[in-house]
Amino acid sequence: RRPTVAVVFGGASTEHGVSCLTAAGVVAALDAERYDVVGIGITADGAWLRVAAEDVAALVTVDGRLPTVPPGRPQAVLLPAGDQVVLASREGDRLVEEVVVDVAFTLLHGPYGEDGTIQGMFEMLGLRYVGSGVSASAVSMDKERMKQVLSAAGLPVGPWTSFTAARWAADQSLCLEAVATLGFPVFVKPARGGSSIGITRVDEPSGLVPAVETALAHDPKCVVEKGLVEAREIECGVLDGPAGPETSVVAEIVTRTASGFYDFEAKYLPEEEQVDLLVPAVMEEDVVARVREVAVRTFTAVGAEGLGRVDTFVTRDGQVLVNEINTMPGFTEHSMFPMVWSASGLGYPDLVARLVELALARPLGLR
Ligand code: ATP
Ligand code: MG
Ligand code: MG
Ligand code: MG
Repeated sequence: RRPTVAVVFGGASTEHGVSCLTAAGVVAALDAERYDVVGIGITADGAWLRVAAEDVAALVTVDGRLPTVPPGRPQAVLLPAGDQVVLASREGDRLVEEVVVDVAFTLLHGPYGEDGTIQGMFEMLGLRYVGSGVSASAVSMDKERMKQVLSAAGLPVGPWTSFTAARWAADQSLCLEAVATLGFPVFVKPARGGSSIGITRVDEPSGLVPAVETALAHDPKCVVEKGLVEAREIECGVLDGPAGPETSVVAEIVTRTASGFYDFEAKYLPEEEQVDLLVPAVMEEDVVARVREVAVRTFTAVGAEGLGRVDTFVTRDGQVLVNEINTMPGFTEHSMFPMVWSASGLGYPDLVARLVELALARPLGLR
């Protein structure tokens, strides 16, 4: 029997549409002779729907708008059944068993997908899944926790501060005092986000309060970082391999956006041509080697599994600072992670197959 891969996509996060695009790409790339593919689409309000593989593959952008999980499908339910996991559909008040699922491939970004919550559900079900486990996902999603873990592991991160919405409400001036020590510009971010959503670059004091309010509208915790605007933005892919984590070539992001950084539009509406992705980056070999070393150490420090994309800043004097690790990086065929692997000799269908095989080979339970 061929393994059945359940592709889980959509989700109740701001990155819903991005996830749908990614799922379309991955389903199209999964070799139909090697795997049976089923789709589980999570609507923006959190309902789980059964979506046929061919309907997932047909999801594309329309008029520059991102797709959503198609409505009107039967409700999907994952059930433990002895040592197997079954995908069922709800018909009225009956559950109709459909297929045994061998591995889940979640293509959800952001909270409730990339943050350990769904990974915890898979652990409870005894279902194998692609990518990082509960703890690594949760730590990597939370920019405050991530920086704490990376610093404790001796990895270089830039200056930053953080506060909760409660603290902001209780003593705004104390929060602003902590921010003032960073100088300008700063980057104000929701602690748990992605695709640059809710992030503002702030160049002068008057911009701080609205930026914090924007970030806190996305997450009850806010992280403010010193803006490393003179540095080069360099990203590196990491993949688990038989002899430990392997790195891709590194890539550079050069932006000319009005916002002054690699924002949501630059990431997903590239027809605006406000961004150049240089794959590979043109850089001295020893700096490239250090970025790759920092990428592996970051991957290991958070306990990531399967895949990760490490975003770094390389300062003018060649210092490599970690911005973040994404445990489920953007994964459409034209996203950075597949591009850096393609430039390293691993094409999109092979990359997708490798991730599924890594997940199938992973033992269940504590690792
Ligand atoms: P994704 O997960 O899609 O990579 P994200 O929402 O987690 O994005 P970040 O990667 O933290 O957000 O930041 C988004 C972009 O903002 C970066 O790619 C970079 O262009 C800019 N940026 C973020 N932090 C800083 C900083 N401290 N200094 C300079 N630029 C920054
Ligand atoms: Mg991120
Ligand atoms: Mg992300
Ligand atoms: Mg990033």
